[in-house]
Amino acid sequence: MKFKMQSLENVRMRVEIACEKAGRPSHAVKILAVSKRHPANSVREACLNGQNQFGENQLQEALEKMGQLDDLPIEWHYIGTVQSNKTREIAQSFSWVQSVDRVKILQRLGRQRPRALGPLNICLQVNIDAEPQKSGVLPQELPELALSASQTEGIRLRGLMAIPQASADPAQQADSFRRVAAAYQELCGQGYTLDTLSMGMSADLEAAIAQGSTMVRIGTDIFGPRPVLL
Ligand SMILES: *Cc1c(COP(=O)(O)O)cnc(C)c1O
Repeated sequence: MKFKMQSLENVRMRVEIACEKAGRPSHAVKILAVSKRHPANSVREACLNGQNQFGENQLQEALEKMGQLDDLPIEWHYIGTVQSNKTREIAQSFSWVQSVDRVKILQRLGRQRPRALGPLNICLQVNIDAEPQKSGVLPQELPELALSASQTEGIRLRGLMAIPQASADPAQQADSFRRVAAAYQELCGQGYTLDTLSMGMSADLEAAIAQGSTMVRIGTDIFGPRPVLL
């Protein structure tokens, strides 16, 4: 699948329209291009068209792409499950980790973050619909994890990330996003300075933006369907 500039333009337009409908400025929502399983060349093309934040969920695959793209000003976000034996390389190679849901992982990432790089940006992943197969903490577990994050050197807590239950029902979709936003606002009310509410993907970015998303993570609608193998 080849990257098409028009696809990226379409996503930008959708974000702009959704922001307008929600009465929010369009710069309030960033686009994270999820390049997992897409080749480095597609990332390069997207970057040359003004996209500079990319998301990956497999360490090895991401490291290979980073090696091929180190001439570009890319900010890499890790959005996959973090295994504890991978934290060192993740802390060394990424600017962000959006999928943190354990204190132990937080602490390892903070300890292993090279100080010269500045703090690692972190989003806590929330399992907002309490789906057994999904990563993330339940909303009631957030205060403890957020406190731990704020006390860990080497990391900077930026906000929350969530992947709500897939639903064809717009009301249910909106309700999931609304509850993530409420959990985010609650943390802000507790004194945390956060700026990132990462929710919304190709199929539901409009619903997420309507509920206050500040970062949508878009794979399919930028790069096309993911190939099974690279
Ligand atoms: C793959 C992935 C996405 C992108 O999903 P699309 O439906 O292809 O836009 C977003 N977030 C996470 C965490 C992902 O793993």
